Amino acid sequence: MELQHFSHIHPLVFKEKLSNKEEKVANCSGCGQAVSGSSFSCMACGFYLDKTCTEAPSELGAHPFHPIHNLNLLERRPYTSCYFCNKTSPTIKGEIHEHVFTLFWRQVPFTCDACGTKGDFLSYGCYTCGLIVHEKCISLPCVIKIGRHRHHSLSHTFILGQHEFTTWECKICPNEVNAQHGGYCCSDCNYIVHTNCGKEDSSWYIFDEKEESDIDLEQFNMKSSFSIIRETKLGEDVIATEIKHLSHQHNLVLSDNVKGENFCDGCMLFISSAFYYCSTCNFFLHKSCAESPRKVYVWFMQNQSPYSLIFDRIFFCCICNHQFNSGFGYEYKNDDGSFCLRCALTSDVPTCGGHEHRLTFYDKYEGQCSGCGDKRSYGNACKDCNFIVDDECLMLPNIIRHKCDEHLLKLTYGDQNVYSEHNYCDICEEIRNPELWFYNCAICDTSCHPKCVVGKYSFLKPGVSYKYKHHPHPLTLTQKLYDYPDQCHRCDKPCLDAALECKEEGCNYILHWGCVDEASYDLERLNYNIADED
Ligand SMILES: [Zn+2]
Ligand SMILES: [Zn+2]
Ligand SMILES: [Zn+2]
Ligand SMILES: [Zn+2]
Ligand SMILES: [Zn+2]
Ligand SMILES: [Zn+2]
Ligand SMILES: [Zn+2]
Ligand SMILES: [Zn+2]
Repeated sequence: MELQHFSHIHPLVFKEKLSNKEEKVANCSGCGQAVSGSSFSCMACGFYLDKTCTEAPSELGAHPFHPIHNLNLLERRPYTSCYFCNKTSPTIKGEIHEHVFTLFWRQVPFTCDACGTKGDFLSYGCYTCGLIVHEKCISLPCVIKIGRHRHHSLSHTFILGQHEFTTWECKICPNEVNAQHGGYCCSDCNYIVHTNCGKEDSSWYIFDEKEESDIDLEQFNMKSSFSIIRETKLGEDVIATEIKHLSHQHNLVLSDNVKGENFCDGCMLFISSAFYYCSTCNFFLHKSCAESPRKVYVWFMQNQSPYSLIFDRIFFCCICNHQFNSGFGYEYKNDDGSFCLRCALTSDVPTCGGHEHRLTFYDKYEGQCSGCGDKRSYGNACKDCNFIVDDECLMLPNIIRHKCDEHLLKLTYGDQNVYSEHNYCDICEEIRNPELWFYNCAICDTSCHPKCVVGKYSFLKPGVSYKYKHHPHPLTLTQKLYDYPDQCHRCDKPCLDAALECKEEGCNYILHWGCVDEASYDLERLNYNIADED
C-alpha cells in the first residue's frame, strides 16, 4: 500500500511492523516519538510517520487550546499551529536566561519560575535548569530600572531563595514575593520586587539615559542651593553657621533658638528645629530646607529628568493639592506642573506622625484614609496594620496658625478613647468623627476638621513682596484676621482674606487674591520681606 502524504515529496510505503534494526532509528516525523506499530515510510529519505500522525487531519476545527481559529497540520515543527497567529515557536531564547526554552505542548497548570504567577496554557521549559515559564516571560529584560530605586538597577533572578534577603516583601505592592520563584532584585540593598510589579513600573518610567549618564547622581544631588559664608567645627562635623542662599538676597545665620513663632519660607511649616534666618527681614528656613538640592529626581514622575528648585513664585502643588504655595517647590522645565518641597522630597516609604511604622506608597491599596476617612484605592499604607493615609493628609502641617484660636493648633491623630457622640468642629460647627485626625488647641479645647483649618491660603506667607506686572510698585501679600474693608481695584468688591496690597505712600492699590490668581504668573517674588504690621 502506498500513500502520497502532503508532508513528504515521495510516496510512502505502509509497514505493519518495523524490523528490529529499523525500530531503533525510526522516529516519527510527525510527533517526534519512536515509531511503534504500523507506519508509513520513505526508505530513501529515512522518513517515517506513525499511524496516528498519518491519519491526523490536515485541518482541525477549533481546538480547546486555541478556540478562535482552525488549526492546520504542518509538515515542520511546530506540528500544529494557527495560520493566523502563527507565533508559537518550538524554542525561544531570551536574554533572561542563558539556555534556550523549549515549548511544552501540553495543557498543564504551572507556576511560572520567572514571574511567580500561575499559567495553564502554553508553557516553555529549560530542561537543563528545571525551569518552567510563560511564553511572554522569556522576553523579559534581565535588568530594569525603576524610579523608586534609581541609584541601582534591578536584575532578574529565577530562584530568589538562593540569595539572602531579610524580607520577602515586594517594595511596590503589598504582597510578598515567593522565594521559590523569580523576581527583580538589588542584592546590595536587600531590595526585591515581583517580576510583574517591576516590569510595570519600569515600563512606566521614561529614563532620560543621556541626561542621567552625563552626571554622577551622588555628586549631582549634592549640588546645593547655598554657599557657605562662615562655618565652625563641632567634633567631626563642620557646620555652616552663615550661608548665602539662592532664594534670598541677604546672608542667613544659623540658630537653634526655637522659642519664637516662626514658619519656614521653604516648606511653610512651623519651625521647631535648627534654622537659618535673616537678621534684616522676616525670612526663615529650616536647616534641612535650606539644604534642599538645587535639582532632584522625583521618584513618582514619569518624566525622570531632574526637577529644579523654584522659590520666586506662587505655585500649585498637584500632589498635596494645595492651591497656592509661596514656599519652595520643584518644577520641570516650566511645563510639567510643580510640586511643593515636601511632596517632591518625600520618598515612597514615608514616615507619618499618625503611625508608628514606616509606610509604603502603593498604586493599588483599598482602604479608608485614617486622616480624613475617605475611601482610597491608593495611598501610603502599612499593610500589617491595615493603615492607609492619602497624600493630602500625609502632608498636613503638624502645627498651624488659624484665626479661630489665639494659639497655634496641633495636628492630632484621632482619639480612640473618646466615645462621645457630641464632637463638633469649632469652625464649621458640624459633627466631627473623633477617630479621624483633627487640629486641636489643648489650652482652649478647640478642635477642628483639618479641611476647615487648612485652606486655600494656608501656604501663602503674609508679608512677602512681589513684583506685579500690572502695578509699578512692589505689592505685599496680606492676610487680615478680619474682613478687609478696602475695595478691590479690579472687581470693586470688598477684599476678604488674602490680598496684594501696595505699601507705597499715597498709593492705595489693593487686589483681592481671587483677582490676582488668574494672573499669578505675572507675579515675581522680591527677595526681601516686610514684616506684616498686623
Ligand atoms: Zn511568567
Ligand atoms: Zn509586587
Ligand atoms: Zn540598590
Ligand atoms: Zn522648612
Ligand atoms: Zn533678608
Ligand atoms: Zn505638595
Ligand atoms: Zn485623607
Ligand atoms: Zn487656644
